[in-house]
Amino acid sequence: MSELSELYQEVILDHNKNPRNFREIENPDKQADGNNPLCGDQLKVYVTLDGDTVSDVSFTGSGCAISKASASMMTQVLKGKSRLEAEVLFDEFHRMVTGKLDPETEDTHLGKLRIFAGVLEFPARVKCASLSWHTVNAALNGEGEVSTE
Ligand code: ZN
Repeated sequence: MSELSELYQEVILDHNKNPRNFREIENPDKQADGNNPLCGDQLKVYVTLDGDTVSDVSFTGSGCAISKASASMMTQVLKGKSRLEAEVLFDEFHRMVTGKLDPETEDTHLGKLRIFAGVLEFPARVKCASLSWHTVNAALNGEGEVSTE
């Protein structure tokens, strides 16, 4: 097993056990529901904007360890980012977990999110890892709901 997949396992376990920003935001500027019927993951993502900047972002819901860990890390990374930066990250993350971007050889803004390249070894988990990203993207674009199907 590669170092990256060991780290992947560790981080997933940690964030699943102790998810960051796992709470509701009252009166958020944006919110959306995300559903991954294949696995049963259901997330709600809340965003507060300060001008063009994500000043707060959180999530609630239930799902598998990967969907929760991914949502948890996403909220950590997105806080303080502009909407444009959030879009770039969404695009890079999505391309990485679908195998269209290799974080080992390409320059990205993904940082620690690169560990999610590990889901490529588990194709059924790709939608779990990307659910929170699709959901926050829907929220920022004013779409209230998104399904990975
Ligand atoms: Zn899942």
